Amino acid sequence: MNNYYLELFEGRKNIIILPHILPDGDTIGSSIALFYALKKLEKRVYIILNDKLPSNLKFLNANSKIITTEDFEKLSIKPDLIITVDSSDIDRLGDRAYLLDLCSEVLNIDHHSTNTNYGKYNLVNSKAAACGEIIYELLKKLKIYIDKDIATALYVALSTDTGSFKYSNTTPSTLRIAADLIEKDIDFSFINTELYQNKPINKIKLLSDVLNSLELHFDGKLAVIYVTNDMLKKNKIDISDTDGIIEYARDIEGVNIAVLLKEFSDNTIKVSLRSKYDFDVSIIAKKFGGGGHKKAAGCTIYDTIDNVKNILLNTFRENFR
Ligand code: 5GP
Ligand code: MN
Repeated sequence: MNNYYLELFEGRKNIIILPHILPDGDTIGSSIALFYALKKLEKRVYIILNDKLPSNLKFLNANSKIITTEDFEKLSIKPDLIITVDSSDIDRLGDRAYLLDLCSEVLNIDHHSTNTNYGKYNLVNSKAAACGEIIYELLKKLKIYIDKDIATALYVALSTDTGSFKYSNTTPSTLRIAADLIEKDIDFSFINTELYQNKPINKIKLLSDVLNSLELHFDGKLAVIYVTNDMLKKNKIDISDTDGIIEYARDIEGVNIAVLLKEFSDNTIKVSLRSKYDFDVSIIAKKFGGGGHKKAAGCTIYDTIDNVKNILLNTFRENFR
C-alpha cells in the first residue's frame, strides 16, 4: 500500500462513506469500522445508504450511523472526500452515484478483481478476502488504534465475506487479522449469534419455497433456484433478507455452479452466481454488466425470470467444459 493514501485524510473535514447497494456484511462492517476510525481523527463522517440493512447486520448500526441521501441533503454539507467501499463499479452505488458530482476526490476501496478503478484514488487489492482486510491495513498505517467497536465491525466484514473463514479467499493474513481482532476483546460469541443464528422465521419459510424451485442442469453440475416476487409477498420477507440462500444450491453434492434468480420487479432480475471449484463466474457476470469474484459474482438482467434463466443456461453451455 503506497503511503500517499495517508495524506488523503489530512486537512479534509467532511467525509462521506458509500457502501454498495443490497449491502452485505463486508460493505457494512468495513464502512462502520472506517466511520469509527475517522471519528477518532475528528472528522465529520457520514455513511450514506438508502437500502434496508439485512436483519442480521442491524446490531452494527445501533446508533443509526447510516443516513439516507434525504437526511444528508438536509445538512447542506459539501464533502471533502468520498470513500466508496466494496463497490467494483459506479453502478454498485445505485441511486447515490450522483453524490460523486459533489466532490471529485473519490477514494475507491475494494477487493474485486473486476474493479474498474473509477476513483481518483484506487485502493484495490483483489488478494484481500474482504474490504475489511484493506481497512485494517489502512488503519494500521494511519496509526489509528483498533478499539473494540472497530474490531467488531471488521470482524463482521472478514467473517461474512469468507463464509466464516471457510472459502478459498481465506489466507494466513486473513486469519492473523481475525486473531488480532479477537484479541481486542470483541464479543465473539455474540457477533456470531447475531450474524448466523438469528434468522427471521419468515426467511426460513421462504427457504422452503426457494428449495422447492430447485432445478438441476448439465448432469447435476449446475443448480438454479429462484426467489420470486410472489414468494417474497407470501412469506412477508424483504429481498434484503435473502442473503445466504444461494449456499443451499451451491452446497449440493456434484453441483459446480449455483445460480440464484431474484425477481426485484417484473423485468428486473438480480442474478447471484457461485462456483465451487475452478470455474470463474465473474466472467459470466461481466458479460451482463456485473462483476464480482471468481467464486461469487452477480449482475442484473432486465427480462422475465424464465428468459433470464434460458439466457444464462445458454451462456454457461458455451463456457462449460
Ligand atoms: P451476491 O450474489 O452475494 O449479491 O454477490 C456476490 C459477489 O458479486 C459480491 O462480491 C458482489 O459484490 C458481486 N456482485 C453482485 N452483484 C453485482 C453486480 O451487479 N455488479 C458487480 N459489479 N458486482 C456484483
Ligand atoms: Mn466484499
